[in-house]
Amino acid sequence: MKNHQTQLLILIGILAASTLFGACSTVPLTGRTQLNLIPASQMLSMSYQEYGTFLKSNKLSTDTQATAMVKRIGGRIQGAVERYFREKGIQGSLAGYQWEFNLVEDKQVNAWCMPGGKVVVYNGILPVTQTEEGLAVVMGHEIAHAVAEHGNERMSQGLLAELGGAALDVALENKPQQTRELWQSAFGLGAQVGVLLPFSRTQESEADELGLTFMAMAGYDPREAVAFWQRMSANKGGQAPPEFLSTHPSDQTRIRQIQEHLPQALKYYTPSK
Ligand SMILES: [Zn+2]
Repeated sequence: MKNHQTQLLILIGILAASTLFGACSTVPLTGRTQLNLIPASQMLSMSYQEYGTFLKSNKLSTDTQATAMVKRIGGRIQGAVERYFREKGIQGSLAGYQWEFNLVEDKQVNAWCMPGGKVVVYNGILPVTQTEEGLAVVMGHEIAHAVAEHGNERMSQGLLAELGGAALDVALENKPQQTRELWQSAFGLGAQVGVLLPFSRTQESEADELGLTFMAMAGYDPREAVAFWQRMSANKGGQAPPEFLSTHPSDQTRIRQIQEHLPQALKYYTPSK
């Protein structure tokens, strides 16, 4: 009996939260409906705080050429994303973005983009990306996760699972530690990467598809994605699987899906030279 009441209260909490925040939104391009419980403004302020903390506790690369490349690719993909969203009439969802692209000294084969366009590339991924187009594959993919609001979706799932969904705004205020841990896991910073794996397969395919479009619009050949993921696959043969791969679909599935999406992405491609 008590249990039922609790469940009912939780359900009411979820419904109230969903209504309050207008929580259902649609992923651009794929049209999938997602449940995002956290207000965009809150995602942005958490992002800017976490990004600042990360940069303070990590060393920026001193390789000026590679750093310039990261910023150049980032700027071009940003332009592509903005154009894409304008053409779809949904540029409002990029409001408040403060794009930033940094390369850090870290051996991990990793990269991510937090909400609001806050990108970090670890220099450990450069031997695998090899070329500017290779890195554009990675950055296009990570930026796609951010603009498709996958982080909000993962955080929302985690909040529902851990905090019962009741009064989410209160939970965010009163449980800073849990909120922070959810953030770290949603963005691949903590030890618990892949904890929401069943959900993230869909997100990974979405990020691949959108990422191909963005890189093509930015003037990078999307066909490079196939070669890049083949190198990533070969790279995995070594010791522990790189963190970047741990939440991603199997390589063969991914490469096959990318090949299927290439004709669509190539419609957006105009070589930059
Ligand atoms: Zn991904």
